Amino acid sequence: MSDDIPVRVRSEIAALPPYKQGKQAGADAFKLSSNENPFGPLPSVVEALQRQTAINRYPDATAARLRHALAARYGVTPDEVHIGSGSVAIIAQLMLAAAGPGDEVVYAWRSFEAYPGLVLIAGATPVEVPLLPDARHDLDAMAAAITPRTRAVIVCTPNNPTGPIVTQAEFDAFIQKVPSDVLVLLDEAYAEFVTHPDAVHGRTVLASGAHPNVVVLRTFSKAYGLAGLRVGYAIGHRRVLDAARSTAIPLSVTAQAEEGALASLAAEDELLERVSHLVARRDGLVAALRAQGWRIPDAQGNFVWLATGAETTAVAAVFDEAGLIVRAFAGDGIRISVGEPEAVDKVIQIAASVVGTLQ
Ligand code: PMP
Repeated sequence: MSDDIPVRVRSEIAALPPYKQGKQAGADAFKLSSNENPFGPLPSVVEALQRQTAINRYPDATAARLRHALAARYGVTPDEVHIGSGSVAIIAQLMLAAAGPGDEVVYAWRSFEAYPGLVLIAGATPVEVPLLPDARHDLDAMAAAITPRTRAVIVCTPNNPTGPIVTQAEFDAFIQKVPSDVLVLLDEAYAEFVTHPDAVHGRTVLASGAHPNVVVLRTFSKAYGLAGLRVGYAIGHRRVLDAARSTAIPLSVTAQAEEGALASLAAEDELLERVSHLVARRDGLVAALRAQGWRIPDAQGNFVWLATGAETTAVAAVFDEAGLIVRAFAGDGIRISVGEPEAVDKVIQIAASVVGTLQ
């Protein structure tokens, strides 16, 4: 059969490669390619899921119980919270809502690999602003990239895949330069792992009430360890979130996702204890890699970045052969998630064996 698409598809979609997931690991390998949480689900979360068996019924379309729980936690009203089937779904909804053909969306690059595709799917044009040499956002250049066509700006902090945060001072200076009718998405998927004292916190930005164009995005996939349930949320102005609700696929957040998220909110102390273990492991990993001579950018998420440049594919193959499934970005670098203690030890061991081979 011919490999041509037999129906008419928008040309920009035909040219768009499907989202590529980090490789799956075999039984004897560690999967460190998707920034997942190595801890298994909490027993209370599993129990909550087992109670949620009415799968012959549709879920509550707006996940109202979860919105109420999050609203209470953030000191906002429930209509200032929006739930999505993963925060990536909410990014898609907001791109569709804010940007169409002829419009531009500015974000740092390299950053979360779903951004360009989601902008293109909306029909808009991605404007990618290179990171600074130390892998931080170049917010001055991002502000300078804003034109009358810009409809949205995405700020990812900590930045996936490189690790550094945006500081509060940097964000404050930046937001002054963004027209007030341009959507600013503060993607805080890894916020719970942040220990940098000067980091911007979406919560503080929202509490100031000064920037109704800012939407903060969070997820249950990382610190809460619910990646498989697909649940994330946005906090922001009710009318902006209404636009996301309008472009959302109806009923895409399952009752199980809502239930699991509620149960994990109720187990906050246990979850934060797990986060503190992961943070300690991350900091230990960064220190060990730096001692070997690697230049590691500030790692504020649950992952570290090896700037392997032209050697990326070759180095990733060495990790792969050692049973460590990492995420390689050809020609740029390798992102390694903070996994089980044995996985971290093995990363340190393999990294030591390759660092000498790099120029
Ligand atoms: N934002 C960033 C920066 C991410 O790294 C990810 C997941 N890799 C997401 C959003 C989406 O996460 P989810 O859809 O699982 O909530």
